[in-house]
Amino acid sequence: SGRVSGKVAMVTGGASGLGAATSKLLVEEGARVVIADINLAGAEQVAAEINKAHPDMALAVELDVTSEQQWQDALETAVGFLGGLNILVNNAGIGGSAPVEDETFENWKKIQAVDLDSVFLGCKYALGHMKAHQPGSIVNISSIAGLIAGHNMGAYNAAKAGVWLFSKSVALHCAKRGYDIRSNSVHPTFIRTPILEGLFAKTTNGEEKLAKQVPLGRIGEPNDVAYAVLYLASDESRFVTGAEIKIDGGISA
Ligand code: NAD
Repeated sequence: SGRVSGKVAMVTGGASGLGAATSKLLVEEGARVVIADINLAGAEQVAAEINKAHPDMALAVELDVTSEQQWQDALETAVGFLGGLNILVNNAGIGGSAPVEDETFENWKKIQAVDLDSVFLGCKYALGHMKAHQPGSIVNISSIAGLIAGHNMGAYNAAKAGVWLFSKSVALHCAKRGYDIRSNSVHPTFIRTPILEGLFAKTTNGEEKLAKQVPLGRIGEPNDVAYAVLYLASDESRFVTGAEIKIDGGISA
């Protein structure tokens, strides 16, 4: 039996990259998963792939994580399919920042909405369902950029740092209320997903240059992150809350 057998999970941004890899791994380890994404067709494709190998283990739902109403509706649909909710992975996110003097207020607000407001809304509305189905685990995908400033990354730095500390706030809230619900954050850098592939396409030897900055000498693969999420989602981490795990090949060491 798997490391999250019998558990029920929702993963945001599950149509692509880290979210898709995490959804697949959670199912391989025994969980049923709702894949929530603004890109419904993409989420349906990932769910279909999963269900081909593991029938009825995955469902796709449409969710714009910046919408308070859509969060409530998607959670109702998810709980209807899953029969409850133990695990929430707040993974949906976007990159893109500009030097502070050139940054538009509009882009700043968009990044805060997708990368940070989303995590607040997800935690706020999922907790009601998770309290009814304990134990629970919330895993928030921040970034190394939530811990260390990057050049021209102000909006993204601010949003991801917000995710980092807000995760701890939720951890303390749940613990003080006596819920068996944990909250932790994961901080990747340079993982091979569409965000990076886009960057590589624009530069010569992009991947090699990036790999040289990493003590382990390579960029990360989606499963390098998914295994950390799996650990935090499972009961193996039952004494871990308000913590962060860096997945960065030693870059921040
Ligand atoms: P990705 O672009 O491959 O996937 C992101 C997914 O989020 C997409 O399916 C997209 O449709 C979805 N999404 C975007 N806006 C949304 C919205 N408003 N509502 C719902 N879904 C939305 O990116 P990824 O690399 O897999 O990134 C996943 C998470 O990991 C993000 O939070 C990102 O900031 C973080 N991260 C990634 C890296 C990396 O190197 N790839 C490094 C650090 C942190």
